[in-house]
Amino acid sequence: MNEPDLIPVFDGHSDTLLKLYRSKDADVEKLFIEGLPGGHIDLPRAKRGGFAGGMFAVWPTPVEKVRRSAEPPRPSDNEPLAPELPRAEAITSTIGMASILFRLERAGALTVCRSAGDVREAMAKGSIAAVFHIEGVEAIDPELAMLDVLHAAGLRSLGIVWSRPNAFGNGVPFRFPSSPDTGPGLTDAGKALVKACNQLRIMIDLSHLNEKGFRDVAALSDAPLVATHSNVHAICGHSRNLTDWQLGAIRETGGMVGLNFATGFLREDGNLNADADLDIMARHIDSLLQALGEDGVGLGSDFDGAMIPSAIGDVAGLPKLIDALVARGFGHELTDKIAYRNWIGMLEKTIG
Ligand code: ZN
Repeated sequence: MNEPDLIPVFDGHSDTLLKLYRSKDADVEKLFIEGLPGGHIDLPRAKRGGFAGGMFAVWPTPVEKVRRSAEPPRPSDNEPLAPELPRAEAITSTIGMASILFRLERAGALTVCRSAGDVREAMAKGSIAAVFHIEGVEAIDPELAMLDVLHAAGLRSLGIVWSRPNAFGNGVPFRFPSSPDTGPGLTDAGKALVKACNQLRIMIDLSHLNEKGFRDVAALSDAPLVATHSNVHAICGHSRNLTDWQLGAIRETGGMVGLNFATGFLREDGNLNADADLDIMARHIDSLLQALGEDGVGLGSDFDGAMIPSAIGDVAGLPKLIDALVARGFGHELTDKIAYRNWIGMLEKTIG
């Protein structure tokens, strides 16, 4: 169980499975349960921070890079778009990270949730509620056979692309300042994927997708539009952030955005500098609330995948953000919505 009196947080995005995959440790369960050196999320710190669960992302990674380095790449600004990832490598890493998720469940460290009801149940018994998410579907074939298999295994949320091209669409490069309008939209396979996700009730995540791809999803999808970990472009003009038009399109569908804690997407100067305070986070939340309404805003930390403000540090620092929202006069009902209720409501509408 979490510490008493903490407001629980359900998080739109973390890369903890990647962190564990890259550790190359045979006993990742022990690493997660007893505490992971460095990184942002493990069980002891999750309990201290009121972390109740979230979307646990699988990020397909080049196999060679894992062998050479234990450190995740730090995307820096104005880099060229990352190259396409060969499907065979994507399958290896996607299945490898999904395996870690299920091993953590077998070890009693979390519960893999396939519905909003599962999330509520796991939270009620004090088990981390993990939704299986994939960030970039390079492992999926254009005929979508792998999608059926992953869905049967519990996949309930996916980003069509990470910040690179694939057979389905094109992600934005990490660029500041930049519009997210950086390339072509979805391919025919990408459009078919949107329809298949609607039918299977897999939530589609728009974070990392470029603007033309975003427009394609908006035109095709019958589900609310969701960006699990993106911020406000009018405050930080990064290609990864959402323009006024995109926020308006999300609002029209009753959709939702999770605040990304990555300093490069928070700071007005777009710098990867941990010196970002709680105030800039609250300003993005204020702006998201104005654009989307009280039901449209949550958190999407990017823990274990990004440079986090030193004011937060890691998952144990979540109460500092929650306290800052309360201090800003948000009131307990709105704070609860941002912390966890809105994400559970959105899962109810998208995955059931
Ligand atoms: Zn991401």
